[in-house]
Amino acid sequence: MQKGKISVQTKNIFPIIKKFLYSDQEIFLRELVSNAIDATTKVKTLASKGELQGRVGNTTIEIILDKEQKTLTIRDKGIGMTGDEVKKYLNQVAFSSAQEFLEKYQNESSIIGHFGLGFYSAFMVADKVDVITKSYQKDSTAVIWSCEGDPKYTLDDHSKKKRGTDIVLHISEDAQEYLEDSRIQGLLDKYCKFLPIPIKFGTKKEIEFEGEGDDQKEIEKEVDNIINNPNPIWKKAPGKLTDEEYKKFYNELHPYSPPPMFWIHLNIDFPFNLTGVLYFPKLNNNFEVQKNKIQLYSNQVYVTDEVKEIVPEFLTLLHGVIDSPDIPLNVSRSYLQSDQNVRKITSYITKKVAEKLNDLFKKEREQYEDKWSDLGVFVKYGMISDDKFSERGEKFALLQNVDGAFFTIDEFKKKVTESQKDKHDKIIFLYTNNAEDQHSQIEASKNRGYDVLVFDHIIDNHFIQHLEHKLGDVTFVRVDSDTVDNLIQRDEKQESVLSEEEQNKVKEIFEGKVKESGGVVVMKPLAPTDQPVLVTKPEFMRRMKEMQAMQGMQMDGFPDTYNLVVNSNHELVAKKILGEKDEEKKSEIAQYLVDLALLNQNMLRGEKLSKFINKSLSMI
Ligand code: ADP
Repeated sequence: MQKGKISVQTKNIFPIIKKFLYSDQEIFLRELVSNAIDATTKVKTLASKGELQGRVGNTTIEIILDKEQKTLTIRDKGIGMTGDEVKKYLNQVAFSSAQEFLEKYQNESSIIGHFGLGFYSAFMVADKVDVITKSYQKDSTAVIWSCEGDPKYTLDDHSKKKRGTDIVLHISEDAQEYLEDSRIQGLLDKYCKFLPIPIKFGTKKEIEFEGEGDDQKEIEKEVDNIINNPNPIWKKAPGKLTDEEYKKFYNELHPYSPPPMFWIHLNIDFPFNLTGVLYFPKLNNNFEVQKNKIQLYSNQVYVTDEVKEIVPEFLTLLHGVIDSPDIPLNVSRSYLQSDQNVRKITSYITKKVAEKLNDLFKKEREQYEDKWSDLGVFVKYGMISDDKFSERGEKFALLQNVDGAFFTIDEFKKKVTESQKDKHDKIIFLYTNNAEDQHSQIEASKNRGYDVLVFDHIIDNHFIQHLEHKLGDVTFVRVDSDTVDNLIQRDEKQESVLSEEEQNKVKEIFEGKVKESGGVVVMKPLAPTDQPVLVTKPEFMRRMKEMQAMQGMQMDGFPDTYNLVVNSNHELVAKKILGEKDEEKKSEIAQYLVDLALLNQNMLRGEKLSKFINKSLSMI
């Protein structure tokens, strides 16, 4: 028996390992199983090169719990190690890498997935570790290496006959949870679900049917409990997969979600290696809840579901899997964002998503339009937050009008460029954010031959600003922001039947009615058949308010600012009000007209509405 001392500067690194990442100590299992996978893959590679003596045989990795002995064993049939290799790899390589890792990251709590601790992470949960291993090499003798969590170790010959390695963890007093089947099963599900070599954890009962017809019997069988799917679809060739297989996999990842709308299979090996499948979920407007459902893997080893640094913010709405060994994992998050490879990966994913959308739009426009209520949020969010995506998105972002027809931005521009250009040569995109409340204005606009778009999602305020900024030649105007003749400003003058002086008189009366909202009165010679008084919400002022509200500055109960447009050519204004001698009566009529205008826009509420009704009743 050999005894030795692991050469370390820090006298005792094990207590540090134990304490370090305490909350994340469960990753030890992933680290050890990953090592077992590596060792097994190496055997397979040797065999494929004809360099392995004997057969590869069954390479299933086993996880064995022994509650009596209080041990957890990870058993592989991989390449194993000779005594010299154990000394080299476990005493020197593994140890120095663990030490280096700790020195580097002791104060860094946000290391992605905490990779790199490797073999020594075993000491986070065990106070003694035995490594029993036999190398694949001819005539090698098996050895057992033992270490009790201090720099001393022993190395001895062992009677193990078969190629491979057993890592035996003597679980420490404060980590007894790792002797529970359910805990281990949970960890295997989380970290090892898609590892490339079958992993067995105990057995399970399965029902099999034997015989036929009336003679059919149910037979309960004990079968190996294989916890992983070694061939997940993202590793397969996209051409060979059916829609059903993609949907089935989605269901495996998100058992309780409705089926996805469509998906993208990522597959690239230059200039970096990345595979994965990203699904477009049904968003149904509540997109916050849907976030952070992309899992990051490295060679099929689960790393994290925090992919903010790799995937642009808006793409975190997608679900699925990304697998790349080229994403540096043992670095801090802030570093990750500036990493060249990661940047390339990010823009690759963005590009792929845009291509997919463009493709769908071109090939299946009808279905694309049907899905727009789900897709729209995503595309708009993407365009607002990512310039590159915005450029691409201009081709497949859709606008919908009040009649339910869809247009691309270019199509709509073409459609309205003649009829909706203003005196500054801007194309005016008229829109409504509430087709019901703004019904009369929409109708008035349509009667003029205008086309009105619908922008009624919370994201649309931002999206409108974004489009105006990007397109340059387009201005958005809400249908209730002015009288219909003035929504698109042109140099047309109409004659008023009232003189300047008379107009001012009328204006004064109405000014008292709009004071509390902070708005103004505008006298306008509209057609005598138009409404006598109209309520407008000036685009600019309204947008300012909306911005403030979005920043949480809205004061409750603060009245909406609105302006009054008084039609100086309407009989009720030009004759009735102007001709009325009794000041009180004059004011009453004016108030009644204002209330009517407010009512027309669903803005007359509460006490004012009751007063209005009483007044109307008394008139009848
Ligand atoms: P890493 O895996 O990052 O190289 P580890 O600390 O996990 O670092 O392991 C150190 C080395 O020990 C490995 O590179 C490998 O050579 C050897 N090793 C660990 N586990 C096994 C195993 N199950 N079978 C064969 N060799 C192993």
